[in-house]
Amino acid sequence: MVEVGGVRLGADRGVVIAGPCSVEGAEQLEEIAGHLARRGVRLIRGGAFKPRTSPYSFQGLGRKALTLLSQVARRHGLAVVTEVLDPRDLEAVLECADVLQIGARNMYNYPLLQEVGRTRTPVLLKRGFQATLEELLLSAEHVMSQGNDRVILCERGIRTFERWTRSTLDISAVPLLKQESHLPVVVDVSHAAGRRDILAPLARAALAAGADGLMLEVHSNPAVALSDGEQQLDLPGFDRLLESLGFPGPG
Ligand code: PEP
Ligand code: MN
Repeated sequence: MVEVGGVRLGADRGVVIAGPCSVEGAEQLEEIAGHLARRGVRLIRGGAFKPRTSPYSFQGLGRKALTLLSQVARRHGLAVVTEVLDPRDLEAVLECADVLQIGARNMYNYPLLQEVGRTRTPVLLKRGFQATLEELLLSAEHVMSQGNDRVILCERGIRTFERWTRSTLDISAVPLLKQESHLPVVVDVSHAAGRRDILAPLARAALAAGADGLMLEVHSNPAVALSDGEQQLDLPGFDRLLESLGFPGPG
C-alpha cells in the first residue's frame, strides 16, 4: 500500500489519477484541476518534462510547469503526479511532486531508477513498450534496493503488430503483477489506447481484473492540446466515463 494525498493506493478501490498529458498554461491547468477536484479526484497528473518521440514536438514547459502544478494543485487540495525525465531535474521535480513518474521510455534507465530510489517520494513506474513483467518488477527492485519501497506499478500497454490502438493493453499484467508482487497496480488506459472512444470499456476491464487505480488523460480542450490530443478526454467525457464506472457524481 502506498499512501499519497490521503489516498491509499493498493487499499482504496478505484483510485483515479487524471489530468492533462502536458501542462500547457495556467488557465488550462486551473480549469482541469477545478473540475477534477469537484469530481472527487485527489491525484492530478500533468507532464512538465515530456518524453516526445520527435525532438521537434512540444517538449513541455519544464520548470515553469512545475511551479504551475504546485500552485494549482495546492489551491484545489490535489496531490501531483509528474514525470522526472532526467536526474538533473530531480531536485526541482521533488519540490512539486507527490509522486515521481518514471515514463515507459525510462523503465530501463537504471541510474534514474536508483536516483528516485534514494528519495522518500512515491514512484509511479511505467512499463516499457517492450518490457516483460519480470523486467518491470526488476526495475521496481532497482528503485526499492536504494531504500524507497513506495513504488506503484503502471501497465500502459505494450507494442504489438496492432495499429488500431497506439499500444495493446496487456490486461494479464494486472492479475500477474498483483500475484507476483505486493505493489499497487495502476492502469493507464489513455496511453494504451491512444484514442478516447474505447477508454470506458478498457477502464472497466482494468478494474475488473483487479487494478488499484486508473490513469486518464483529461484536457479542457483536447482539440488544441499540444500533445496526445487524440486520446485526451474533455471534461464532460471524463464525467461520462466516471459515471460508466459507477463512481459517484459531483458532491
Ligand atoms: C505520460 O504518462 O505522460 C507518458 C509520456 O506516458 P508513457 O511514458 O507511458 O508513454
Ligand atoms: Mn500523454
